[in-house]
Amino acid sequence: MEWLSDEERFSAIDENLKYIAEEIAEAALKSGRKSEDISLMAVTKTVESKFINYAVDKGIGLIGENKVQEFLMKEPELNLSKCKAHLIGHLQSNKVKKIVGKVDTIQSVDSVAIAREIGKRSVEAGVNTKILLEVNVGNEESKFGFSPDEVFERACEISEINGIVIDGLMCVAPICEKDAEIRRIFSNMRRLFIDIEGKKRDNINMNVLSMGMSGDYKNAILEGANLVRIGSAIFGSRIYR
Ligand SMILES: *Cc1c(COP(=O)(O)O)cnc(C)c1O
Repeated sequence: MEWLSDEERFSAIDENLKYIAEEIAEAALKSGRKSEDISLMAVTKTVESKFINYAVDKGIGLIGENKVQEFLMKEPELNLSKCKAHLIGHLQSNKVKKIVGKVDTIQSVDSVAIAREIGKRSVEAGVNTKILLEVNVGNEESKFGFSPDEVFERACEISEINGIVIDGLMCVAPICEKDAEIRRIFSNMRRLFIDIEGKKRDNINMNVLSMGMSGDYKNAILEGANLVRIGSAIFGSRIYR
């Protein structure tokens, strides 16, 4: 949408949000739930603050950024009084101190070591940080996250760390050609979520199942996602500089 004027981009965002709201409502209904049961996160990497604030004005209550640096740069310009922010990108340990206390949840916890660092910095800052455990649900070599087999064991280790609250699971699904394939993957995530929830361990809460992006959010909702992370379908395709 780079070649559009700001006004044209605002109106495109408006239309995209309306369309996505309808799609979410339909998928929620099909999975026996309501729109309100599904949180819509606007993924804002590479998006300028004025467009993010516009989406917030239109009712977006949750944004997700991938990079600590980018979030901290935009933060002073963002209207975050009515909107929560989550970190959704791979986190390096030297950036933890900068982000703790600044976001509501860190969704991309992919090792016990990074969880320990988040815990340590949270205790220092006098806060509790909510985290999601990232699962490499397709067992892809190129992806971050715990393998499905080890998630529960690692969750138990992480649940002992002070300053952290486990709030659920997240995944970035592989790109699949067929609907049936992607649905099977999301369904595996959902099963893992239910299994861990059923074990009822202290300090391991399974409230949030974060899965589904622009290309696959309807299938994710059909398979039980309660938080979808949508970027390009709201703001247009990204231009990386
Ligand atoms: C970029 C990103 C998204 C959104 O991707 P779109 O395909 O633009 O909707 C969601 N989750 C994560 C972790 C991302 O990095």
